[in-house]
Amino acid sequence: MSQKIKTTCPYCGVGCGVIVSQDERGAVTVAGDPDHPSNYGRLCSKGSALAETLGHEGRLLSPMVDGCVSDWDEALDTAAKGFQRMVRDHGPDAVAFYVSGQLLTEDYYVANKLMKGFIGSANIDTNSRLCMSSAVVAHKRAYGADIMPCSYEDLERAKLIVLAGSNTAWCHPVLYQRMMESKRQNPDLQVIVIDPRATPTAETADLHLPIKPGSDALLFNGLLVYLEQGGERNGLFVNQATQACDEALSAAKSDAESIEHVAAGCGLSVELVERFYRLFARTERVVTLYSQGINQSSSGVDKINAIINCHLLTGRIGRPGMGPFSLTGQPNAMGGREVGGLANQLAAHMAIESAADRERVQRFWDAPAIPQKGGLKAVDLFSAIEAGKVRAVWIMATNPAVSLPDSDQVRRALAQCELVVVSDCMALTDTTAYAHVLFPASTWGERSGTVTSSERRLSRQRAFLDTPGMARPDWWIISQVAQRMGFQGQFDYRQPKDVFREHAALSGFENAGTRGFDISGLADLSDLQYESLSPTQWPLTSSTPQGTARLFGDGVFFTPDRKARFVPVTHQLPRNQADATYPLILNTGRVRDHWHTLTRTGLSPRLASHTIEPYAEIHPQDAQGFGVVQGALAQVESACGSVIVRVKVTTNQQQGSLFIPMHWNTQFAETGRVNVLLPGVVDPLSGQPEFKHGRVAIQER
Ligand code: SF4
Repeated sequence: MSQKIKTTCPYCGVGCGVIVSQDERGAVTVAGDPDHPSNYGRLCSKGSALAETLGHEGRLLSPMVDGCVSDWDEALDTAAKGFQRMVRDHGPDAVAFYVSGQLLTEDYYVANKLMKGFIGSANIDTNSRLCMSSAVVAHKRAYGADIMPCSYEDLERAKLIVLAGSNTAWCHPVLYQRMMESKRQNPDLQVIVIDPRATPTAETADLHLPIKPGSDALLFNGLLVYLEQGGERNGLFVNQATQACDEALSAAKSDAESIEHVAAGCGLSVELVERFYRLFARTERVVTLYSQGINQSSSGVDKINAIINCHLLTGRIGRPGMGPFSLTGQPNAMGGREVGGLANQLAAHMAIESAADRERVQRFWDAPAIPQKGGLKAVDLFSAIEAGKVRAVWIMATNPAVSLPDSDQVRRALAQCELVVVSDCMALTDTTAYAHVLFPASTWGERSGTVTSSERRLSRQRAFLDTPGMARPDWWIISQVAQRMGFQGQFDYRQPKDVFREHAALSGFENAGTRGFDISGLADLSDLQYESLSPTQWPLTSSTPQGTARLFGDGVFFTPDRKARFVPVTHQLPRNQADATYPLILNTGRVRDHWHTLTRTGLSPRLASHTIEPYAEIHPQDAQGFGVVQGALAQVESACGSVIVRVKVTTNQQQGSLFIPMHWNTQFAETGRVNVLLPGVVDPLSGQPEFKHGRVAIQER
């Protein structure tokens, strides 16, 4: 007799429902949950291989202090006393947390509460900074709150899907499957892909715009002008529900004075640009999805606002089958935003720059202090560690020594940091190597809590395995450190559901209707209701107990006057441009079957066999010009570092550019950590790094 548990996939932001079956001998099989509205039974290769990654190989099974096996008391006390000492001697900003979109919402909530409410610093940032922080800023500028207005079902109701900077087929595969199924059912549905690379997604699109890297804002500014000049303005919506349309149009007209100008600036033919513009103009039901190709840019916020401007002008937002749609990379990037896990946020979508919000959160938490201003964002945080300004850091469920740009600088920073605490389920990662205190965390299958997907759908992860060794859930570890720092009463959680109810109550506290995020309808869940919680989209209040599929259909936004804002955008070139020393532009991204820095997917032989080693894709003419050949090894070098990768010669890559996947860590490929090549260039508004536009040289190895 097998036991079946419903849970959620731990990989990407699609948030697929998974049914886990376990037989009497404990053997686990996984299948897609046919009732889960994110995937209706589908799983991609990564989700299907989850059962292959459940072994204990490489697990961290006990706390460690200074490289020696320890026990929980000693490890927790060492961390708590270390943080207390730093705060006492150097102030709260000498301490920082760097957390993760892999954490469950309950873990994230407790970490943010400890840092912002009780340590009294806003120095908590997250690897979600690398994933969607530009979308957060753009949403707040346009809507007055960080809201993604659409639902996945809009992909089935659209007549045109525009994918900007997204290799959806590999990075959000189940959504891609849904789009392709929708296309089979509805041959009129058109799919346009805007991407410098001819990706697997682009290969199946009706139209591929192989845009010059970094020129997306110019393309969408040109679209805004085209729509206005073609009479596509939705006058009623623009007049009643928006502000600053004329300012945005004026900026777009100076930027994109003609289609010829746009085409030249974007490296596209006039005919291709016109086809895209015509299709967008004549199709009412348009969804524009944007992902890391847009976000990971030194002007990512402006690019997103340029996209949103086009939807505001046409009033194509908040109605079925239309709207601008941010695809988040990680399984709980959205949940992290809900709890305020970015350094420039407060909990429950409240604003750290608002004195009233700070007072409100402080009162709700019964906290001694709330910082008056935002803390250090990811790249700046590790620079501050290297400079000795931050002296103690706690890294949870992430591997910044591989994943951050200029990752050798991260190593230098951690090597000299006075106290490095790391919580991880794996013993040996590039980051755990620097830890003074190591906490063994439980992982997928062992932990319970909630995550929120790209479409605002809150979904349960449920435990079905015993936790091995001395591993514990992150919320417990953080609560224990908090209590040992003297904050007993406010961190006395017994179960993740205690944390969840507090988080839900804060979301509905006082001025909830002005912030967008609201799950106050779940604040009084019984234990049983929490256990059986079904996947639902927020806002989820007493008046919307079934959740909310889409927002802004009523033309009401979250700005003070309840009107959306057009944002004037002038396109900017990426900060790094090729030069004589580094003549190639470097683009980085995912492969189909790996996740992040390989610590989990590297355990599955089936997944590992899809792409066995790091590689660089290069156009044939560049390969000839730089003397590298198909299948040989090459050294790729930048001003920050160098890697050795296998050469793949392909016309899928534009001339003048390289693509290298982001995943490999030192355990799997000693010389393949691509992020050593990228400098810490970020969007000045969001702090999101520019992973899509480095400059490098390549030579035969
Ligand atoms: Fe998991 Fe994403 Fe694949 Fe769904 S699409 S199974 S959430 S990795």
